[in-house]
Amino acid sequence: MSKIINIVGARPNFMKIAPLMKAYSSSNSLEPILLHTGQHYDAKMSSLFFEELGIPKPDINLEVGSDTQAKQVAKIMERFEDVCFSVKPDAILVVGDVNSTMACSIVAAKLGIKIVHLEAGLRSFDRTMPEEINRLVTDALADLLLTPSLDADQNLSNEGVSPSKIFRVGNIMIDTLFMFLPKAELSPILDDLKLQSKQFALVTLHRPSNVDEKEGIQSIMNTLNEISSDIDIIFPMHPRTKENLRKFGINLNALNPRLQICEPLGYLDFQKLMSNSKFVITDSGGVQEETTALKIPCITLRENTERPITILEGSNVIAGKDMQKLLEYANQAIAGKWKQSQIPAMWDGKTANRVVEVLERKL
Ligand code: UDP
Repeated sequence: MSKIINIVGARPNFMKIAPLMKAYSSSNSLEPILLHTGQHYDAKMSSLFFEELGIPKPDINLEVGSDTQAKQVAKIMERFEDVCFSVKPDAILVVGDVNSTMACSIVAAKLGIKIVHLEAGLRSFDRTMPEEINRLVTDALADLLLTPSLDADQNLSNEGVSPSKIFRVGNIMIDTLFMFLPKAELSPILDDLKLQSKQFALVTLHRPSNVDEKEGIQSIMNTLNEISSDIDIIFPMHPRTKENLRKFGINLNALNPRLQICEPLGYLDFQKLMSNSKFVITDSGGVQEETTALKIPCITLRENTERPITILEGSNVIAGKDMQKLLEYANQAIAGKWKQSQIPAMWDGKTANRVVEVLERKL
């Protein structure tokens, strides 16, 4: 039996671990343990996802909470080292690119514990982005690098990673998306928010590059306000964004009532909104992928993306910080003029089974 600690910490990790925890039950040789670092801890960003996605209660919770990035990483490392001493795992599996992903990988590497990185190889080539540092460090330390797409394999090869460590398994988030879409369809959120299918746009924003400076977020809010004169907009606001708007004294009451701001939503409500939206404006990595899988037009407010396949094959476009471009893309989407797109290979809802198969062979 290989004892494997699976690590989650923040919202985008939960939809990546959910299908895997289910798929493990088909294996006689893997003994999974679930550990939550507590990087995200409130109900709307954490426990709600466990309930909705049927993720088992974590066996271990490090309860680190929020802090500056270095303090948070340090706390995770300190507490996770103790766990490794007592549990003595054969391997750890980390997902995505959050602080927990990197912190636990450093601890495991130094203790000689095998590291599996699920969603390896993605690169924005932008080191001002905290997640890019997490990706680079994790992939440099990982023993098994499980990738979602060919570009990820190529990035790893270019960095000198041996091909014997790289396994393309596809996109695990899309397993969750396809599995839960029928259930999400039953959500009453459209009626609750008085929205009509295909007659609204959905917005999510939380990356430091968009929300940490007053001028930047103010100009985005002004542009969203302008777009909302042509189409209803719903903006479930990340706690980081909400806190920054409050700190900067940006007055949300002065906005057009067609631009609705609400709390972060649970997975099912959010998927119902996304799949019924006319288009999406985002800076989220996961949302760029989900819109590609659903063939919903997506406008990404970033200068780059670590998920280029969503541009090359999918329904995503990059507007950077150019508000004129955002307006132009929004007008195109409202007019129903969008590029043809396709769903990338191996984004087929079967990634978790492929992961288990690789782990059974390689651990
Ligand atoms: N999401 C959600 N509720 C929301 C906003 C996002 O369930 O109010 C989901 C979204 O569908 C995707 C994941 O959260 O599955 C993405 O997380 P996030 O944008 O926080 O992280 P990123 O993907 O940018 O790392």
